[in-house]
Parts: sequence; structure tokens; C-alpha cells
Amino acid sequence: SIILRKWFDLLMANQEDLGRILTAEQGKPFAEAKGEIAYGASFVEWFAEEAKRVNGETLPTFDNNRRLIVLKQPIGVCAAITPWNFPLAMITRKVAPALAAGNTVVAKPAEATPLVALEATRALHDAGIPVDALHTLPMPGREFGEAALAHPRLAGVVFTGSTATAQWLNRRLAAREGAILPLVAETGGINAMIVGSSALAEQVVDDALASAFGSAGQRCSALRLLCVQEDVADRIFAMLAGAMRELVIGDPADPATDVGPVISDAAARSLREHLTDIATHGRILESGTLGPAQAHGSFFPPTLVELDDPRQLTREAFGPILHVLRFRSRELPQLLAAIRESGYGLTLGIQTRLASTEAEVFAGSLAGNVYVNRSMTGAVVGVQPFGGSGLSGTGPKAGGPHYLVRLATERTLTVNTTATGGNTELLGLG
Ligand code: ADP
Repeated sequence: SIILRKWFDLLMANQEDLGRILTAEQGKPFAEAKGEIAYGASFVEWFAEEAKRVNGETLPTFDNNRRLIVLKQPIGVCAAITPWNFPLAMITRKVAPALAAGNTVVAKPAEATPLVALEATRALHDAGIPVDALHTLPMPGREFGEAALAHPRLAGVVFTGSTATAQWLNRRLAAREGAILPLVAETGGINAMIVGSSALAEQVVDDALASAFGSAGQRCSALRLLCVQEDVADRIFAMLAGAMRELVIGDPADPATDVGPVISDAAARSLREHLTDIATHGRILESGTLGPAQAHGSFFPPTLVELDDPRQLTREAFGPILHVLRFRSRELPQLLAAIRESGYGLTLGIQTRLASTEAEVFAGSLAGNVYVNRSMTGAVVGVQPFGGSGLSGTGPKAGGPHYLVRLATERTLTVNTTATGGNTELLGLG
């Protein structure tokens, strides 16, 4: 707990430098990069406290002659596999709880973003953790997976990335002989925002822009499908297109930039392919143009595409493409059913001034994190524990009270206090 606290302090003391590395390596605007350092550090702070809360919990008992103590013991060596979209925060979000539970960790950052993960590791070592408690191995994913999941000392896997990789890890774990190991997987989503006709249009536009185009849409919580009640749709789509024309696309180190590049040329190509496919069903309402300044670098312009049916969107397009559709108020149940049928359940936005709409949409959704009349990204550690269900992940939620326990073994010790004279100190548990 003290070392974690020190790690938090070091990350925050180096927020600017780490932010600069992150912007250079990953391409998110510097303000967002600094935000990610603070966000990543907040996991460390949270789990430093969690370690104190969770260890040595004493449960109330029904019998005065007994004392029941629940102990959390480490499970052993955890593999932490992380993606490139939050290369620092995903490391701290996995390493901090694993260490807080007393485990050791072998971390595997994404191929595209090893530097900031190595810097975070160095800061933890500087904070005083033994070097062997955390090894960070930048290497190809599959190669790491083959070695780590076959290793006899592996005790658990914590993962953030694609659903396909999570399924691969799950199959590999299932094929192991012996103990059944925990897998905590956080994957993607096809996240919707439902806008009723009573919503405040300016608020919808601000929140949709931030949720869809922040970090160039490369967040698993990002808005992908904006569903607007038809009476207000024309106005909102026009306002949104207007606001998109104001977005500055460019160098992420320039403070004026709103939208930086996507992670790689391959990612930009895949987004272009998605747009070509989806355009066969829909209509492109707005697409930013790239100037000579964006000729070098993997830029992709924020794009608005109108669809007729939520089922036309079958995959998570991980970038600044926002799909929109109109719905009639009486079709809301069918719309919610179609969103559930995608199998994902990560984030959901609701914009309405009616409590009844809010309740109906919430009840009709499987999303793990639901936000009303605000943006749907930027979950705060400890305040909005983050994570979904179904194809979006296994739980427990990141930055929540159940995560650390998943990486520990629970043992109970029941002491008959009349027989021992109440002397549990003998066991070092007093
Ligand atoms: P993304 O679409 O975010 O790149 P991936 O699931 O491909 O999603 O990657 C997330 C992380 O998982 C990366 O660190 C990547 O190297 C790793 N990874 C990919 N395939 C495997 C695998 N078979 N075993 C272990 N890790 C893997």
C-alpha cells in the first residue's frame, strides 16, 4: 500500500513528461494524454486504499463465541495484457490491483505502445517494489499468449483488448490441465446514445461530439450509434454536422488540435473499408476533409453516417465514425431490443428530460455503464466502476470494489474463542 502510494506520487510528479511520451507514441492530444496519466494514477491510488480495506476483513458472526475472519491471499503470478488506446492507464488498472492483492505480474503492453508502459514500470520500481514483482515484456501478443498461458506458474489473466483475443485466451485457459484460473476480460462495445424529443439539443451535440470523437473515437466506451427521435433528428444532425466542421484535425502536440491521428495506417485503412461497407446501407452526412498538413500520418476525418436500422452496424469500428439513425417514439422497445441483440453491453447514453424515458431505456439495456444527459466516456475510478457484460467483458468492473478480490483467494478462519481464550494473536491475526 505504501509502495503503491509512492507509485501514484511518481506518476503524478512526472505527468507532463509521461504525457509527452504518450502523445508522441500513441498520438492522442497532449491534454488528453495528461488526463490519461492522472486517470492511470487514480487506479494506483484507489487500489492502495483497497488493499487496506479488503485485507483482513472481519465479518460479523451470529455467535459470540466465534470469530470469523476472511483472509485474502495472493493467487500468484498474473499475466496482464493491455491495448494501445490507454497504454499507461491499462497497465496501472491491472498491475495495481494484482499487486494490492499480493500477487506478482508479468505485463504485456500492446506492440504499438511499449514506451509509456516501460516508463510506468520504471516508476514502480523506483517506488521500491522488488524488480521481480513486475516484469514488462514488450513482445508480439500471440507469442506471449502461447508462452504465458502454457506456463505452469500462471495463476490468472487480466486482459483488455478485442473480444476475439479474449475468446482465444478463454479457450487456452480452458484447455489447461489442473486448476481453473480466473480470466478478467474487458473488450469492446457498439455503444448507443438514445435521444428523446425532450432532450436539450445543444447538450446532445456537445456530449455526442465528446463521446464519439474524443481520442479520435479510439475508446472502448466511445459513442458509435446515435439514435434520435425523428421529430428532432433533422435539427440535431444538422447541428452536429456544423459542430464537426469546427473540429481541428492535426498534430496531437499542438494545443489547438481536437482530433489527432488514429493509431496506424492499418487502422485508417480498416476504417475506410468499414465506411465503404456501411455506405452501401447508409448515407454519409458529413466527413471532414484532410488538408496538406495531414498528408503525413494516419489521419482519419471525423465522419457522420446515417443508417436506417441498428442491425446494419455489426462491428465496432474503432475510430472517429459516428453512425446516426432516427426512431419513432413507439418503436423504442424494438430499437432497444436490436441494440441488446448485438450482444455487447458496455456504455449507453440517454438524453431526455423525462424520467419515464430514462427508466425505460435503462431497463431495456444490458450496458454496464449508463449515463444520462452527459457524455458517456471518462468513467471516474471509484465513482463509476467501469465494465460491461456479454461480448463486452467478464467483470468485475475496473476501478470498483470487487476487482481486487477476483485476484485473491478467499479463506475463512473460524475461531471458537471460548476454547482458545480468545487468543487469536497466536495466529498473528489479532
Ligand atoms: P486491439 O484491437 O486493441 O489491438 P487485440 O486484442 O489484438 O486488440 O490486442 C490487445 C492486446 O492483446 C495487445 O497487447 C496484443 O498484443 C495482445 N494479444 C493479441 N493476441 C494475443 C494472444 N493470442 N495472446 C495474448 N495476447 C494477445
